[in-house]
Amino acid sequence: MTARILDGRALAKQLTGELAAEARQLAADLGFAPALAAVLVGEDPASRAYIGSIERICGRVGLPFRLVAMPEATTEAEVRAELIALNRQREVAGIIVQMPLPPHLSARVVAQTLAPEKDIDGITPTNAGRLALGLPALVPNTPAGGMEILRRYDVPLAGRRAVVVGRSSVVGTPMALLLVRADATVTVCHSRTPDLAAEVRRADVVAVAAGRPRLVTGAMLKPGAVVVDFGINFPDDAGGKMVGDVDFASAVEVAGAITPVPGGTGPVTNMMLV
Ligand code: NDP
Repeated sequence: MTARILDGRALAKQLTGELAAEARQLAADLGFAPALAAVLVGEDPASRAYIGSIERICGRVGLPFRLVAMPEATTEAEVRAELIALNRQREVAGIIVQMPLPPHLSARVVAQTLAPEKDIDGITPTNAGRLALGLPALVPNTPAGGMEILRRYDVPLAGRRAVVVGRSSVVGTPMALLLVRADATVTVCHSRTPDLAAEVRRADVVAVAAGRPRLVTGAMLKPGAVVVDFGINFPDDAGGKMVGDVDFASAVEVAGAITPVPGGTGPVTNMMLV
């Protein structure tokens, strides 16, 4: 069996058109185009590149984008003051704070300053709590993108057995909560799970966010399982190529459907933010 490819690039293209239409309607209803603001502290090139990709999507969709670039030496009080100002600006509808922050800044303190209704990456305790309570919430983009792929490709979740590998607050844990909300029966695995293969083999849907290249192999999968790979790794043995947390070559022979890396969850993640 060769798995169906869950094509994130194609979905992102489709979403661009839908979002552009929504953005036009929103601007007409509000009388102004709501802006996305990105707060970037320091000069990390990977963070700059990520923010650049968000800016390009905003441009394609027709949403104003505002970059607030602050020097590496910015104090916590200065970041908080900037966020408080953005919280108050009516034309700024959504704010992201690029992580990781420089080590002298507390991500927790910064997250607590963000207005929950503008917290489009779901980092505030309020949104995390609302997600856990099953209330409407702004959720982290990466798992939101994974769920969007499953929804758009009509993957049934109700009553299915799902395994999430990884329990981080940005990917694994919110993905598990979203799958529970979609009525799946969910198991969360992590580094202390004694027999990962046995857990994965029981799953109809496997979502992997472990940060370990090729951790989940085809031999671990139940034939026909749907695999969502969040991994972004550049291991030495891949010759500079990006590989996922799933061993694509073996998994594609066993799975029923799979997100490739690159071109799977990544392109959809940024669309969810917008
Ligand atoms: P973290 O390092 O924060 O979390 C990794 C999780 O995986 C932890 O819960 C850890 O367990 C678990 N884990 C590590 N090794 C194993 C193992 N051998 N078996 C089972 N579980 C294991 O990573 P993130 O959640 O931030 O990111 C995960 C992956 O997703 C990375 O590859 C990252 O690059 C990618 N990512 C992708 C995005 C996208 O847009 N597609 C966006 C963000 C991240 P424990 O808790 O016990 O330590």
